Amino acid sequence: MRMSPATGIRILGALCVAALLGGCGAVVDRLLNRVYEAPPYEVEAATQELYRRQLVVDLHGDILLWRRDLLERAGHGHVDLPRLQEGNVALQVFGVVTQVPFTFSLDNNKPTPDVISALAWSDDWPAETRDSRLERALYQADKLADRIARSDGALTLVTDRAELEALIAARRGGAPVIGAILLLEGAQALDGELANIDRLYDAGFRIVGLSHLFDNDMAGSAHGTEKHGLTPQGRELVRRLQEKRMIIDLAHASPQAFDEVIAMARGPVIASHGGVRGTCDTNRNLSDDQVRAIAGTGGLVGIGVYRYATCGKTVADTVRAMRHVADLVGVSHVALGSDFDGAVATVFDTTGWPLLVEALLADGFSEAEIAAILGGNALRVLREALP
Ligand SMILES: [Zn+2]
Repeated sequence: MRMSPATGIRILGALCVAALLGGCGAVVDRLLNRVYEAPPYEVEAATQELYRRQLVVDLHGDILLWRRDLLERAGHGHVDLPRLQEGNVALQVFGVVTQVPFTFSLDNNKPTPDVISALAWSDDWPAETRDSRLERALYQADKLADRIARSDGALTLVTDRAELEALIAARRGGAPVIGAILLLEGAQALDGELANIDRLYDAGFRIVGLSHLFDNDMAGSAHGTEKHGLTPQGRELVRRLQEKRMIIDLAHASPQAFDEVIAMARGPVIASHGGVRGTCDTNRNLSDDQVRAIAGTGGLVGIGVYRYATCGKTVADTVRAMRHVADLVGVSHVALGSDFDGAVATVFDTTGWPLLVEALLADGFSEAEIAAILGGNALRVLREALP
């Protein structure tokens, strides 16, 4: 999830409207999760045909936060099952957000007051989610499990290598099943108890971002007031995550926490969504050194399709960031990290990935390179890292 400095004010306005209309989440969802270009998205037949042959993996989408039903096509937002199917997506990583500062800015956030407690109240989340970030994470995981159970086999949770291989085999065999992986945005969701990582693992989480929009008791955030490194508890968390083969996501990490995790890394780490300072110089985006460090672990840099990641509103801006990473460390570390439904406007919704293929071709990427970016790289890392 990424928001502009003005978002706190917009959310305040939305909450005022919501107080009158009821359903604050639905209002904020419509207000923030827009697209710059409305579907349908047209590309040449040959480009479409090239796209349809790919296994497409998106490392970050936040639909579980919202009131929409994943199984039904919505007239707004970016991701739902019908659009994932239409968009030929093989695997969607679902980000889970548990706490968002009311006055969010790119820099210097305090953790409270917290917008998600208002959302939990307004959108009728279970009572235990009002005070517990752990319960908010488990609630969203439950929501995904419920939709998977009701999807008639169209969606499947991926928690280990065997399930990943089964998904790939099914897709290669022509079955349009879509895989889902759960990603936690911020270790504040442990509610201060390291042992809660076991409950999150059991609920299906396999990717963990250590910090999100503010410093927490495990790790500092790029947006925090202190931007500190790993705390002793945070170091222990990193060790446990690696023991459990949960993948570490360094999107939103403070520079110090980033470096300390890299120094401890025993396998590939990722930045699931965002951009690079080489094309969009903000304190949230990765420096060239950070891109090299991620590549050094064999990991992935997921590039977004939103303005705060790429400093632009077009698909060419996303390709510019991908080209920068490819030139710096090789194409095998470039991945999709849309941040769909992450309280951001995006260039397109999940049916628009063929537009990216068109732009990658125009930039001179080969078919093999495009296959790697769309999903090949992500599948390589998941195969290596998952339990
Ligand atoms: Zn995020």
